[in-house]
Amino acid sequence: MIDPEKALDLVRERSVPGEPRRCSLQSAAGCVLAEAVSADRDFPPFDRSMMDGVAVRVEDAGSRVRLTGEVAAGQPPQGSVEPGTCFTVMTGAACPPGTEAVVPKEKTTRDGEWVALPPALDRDWNVVRKGSERARGAGILEAGALLTPLAVAALAAAGCSRPLVIPRPTIALITTGREVVDPATRPETHQIRDANGPMLESQAAVLGAPVAFRTHADDTEESLLAALERAGEADIILFVGGVSMGKYDLVPGVIERFGAEIVFRKVSQKPGKPLLLAGKGSRLIFGIPGNPLAAHFCYHRYVSAAVLAMAGRSPERLSFQGVLSAPAAARKGRTSFLLGQASLIGGEWQVMPAGQKSTADLFGTVDANCYLRLEGEDGELAAGDRIAFTLIGGKEWTI
Ligand code: AMP
Ligand code: MG
Repeated sequence: MIDPEKALDLVRERSVPGEPRRCSLQSAAGCVLAEAVSADRDFPPFDRSMMDGVAVRVEDAGSRVRLTGEVAAGQPPQGSVEPGTCFTVMTGAACPPGTEAVVPKEKTTRDGEWVALPPALDRDWNVVRKGSERARGAGILEAGALLTPLAVAALAAAGCSRPLVIPRPTIALITTGREVVDPATRPETHQIRDANGPMLESQAAVLGAPVAFRTHADDTEESLLAALERAGEADIILFVGGVSMGKYDLVPGVIERFGAEIVFRKVSQKPGKPLLLAGKGSRLIFGIPGNPLAAHFCYHRYVSAAVLAMAGRSPERLSFQGVLSAPAAARKGRTSFLLGQASLIGGEWQVMPAGQKSTADLFGTVDANCYLRLEGEDGELAAGDRIAFTLIGGKEWTI
């Protein structure tokens, strides 16, 4: 049995980033860029008007100037702004040569072809000069940058329509157990609906690396091995259920028969003690215990770490400090991770442990948004005690 820190280290050590490949801009968000991208032209490529207004010379402040032309966005300017004259320009239009400022339309008075200007004008007012955001050839993004939606927009603007990225790993999910039936069916009394499959698929989707292959296996070696072989070349294979000590917990033996090497088996944590990690080449195989809250936690802490590391990301796990709103008890000799609800009240995080009856109880935890962490020696903590927690996401935080 290893501790949860060692287990996380081993997961990260074994997670090899994939070979860079090109992808579409639509699928790039959340990926890590594998090449530096620089400006292919000056940005902006022309003196850009930031307003609907008139392009003028600053020396004409306070006087009436004659309107000599118009430029809409997407039109090349014809002619130039001479002293005593002006052009109507639209937001995003290329200012004609000679433009020193763009006066917003609402700050001018028009009388036929004459336009009265305000008494003072600053040079470059509402004009962004060619190349002032980035000169051609200057860097925009470094290799290793995480592609956020803002970064994707920068790539699009710079004409990098097929960025070279580290691909996200492919995931295969194998649920197990004779008692587990499809949620759309009416179970017999001794059967239960599959909650883990939809939950883990949702966790994978939220992280941006959706489950690509999904099947269910019975508790027989043949069925489990066939499922494993069908999971094929997935980078990460998840078995759920069948990893504990029961007579029909056959997953560890099947993983070995498959020729994979067991990296660890059992972690001193609650929930998820039977967690198993195996490797075959660069592929990782997780054996996750079947109790839904154990499965949720194992994905949250370990599988997501593998997904992110294989995608070239090395995120820091944001650990917060809060104050307990109710007592919470640690499991002796193990690190306990309890679902809870964290709320920011008056600048301080208040953390309420969830009221689930067991690691199989999905109904006491539907509102949870965090995991509280208690060490084995913590014993019982009281309301008001400080506690460390991590957010599990899934809820939107607004600003
Ligand atoms: P196991 O890890 O196979 O011993 O399963 C532990 C518990 O989790 C048992 O009560 C199973 O019935 C339950 N379980 C296993 N797989 C699922 C699943 N896909 N959805 C909901 N519960 C499950
Ligand atoms: Mg089982």
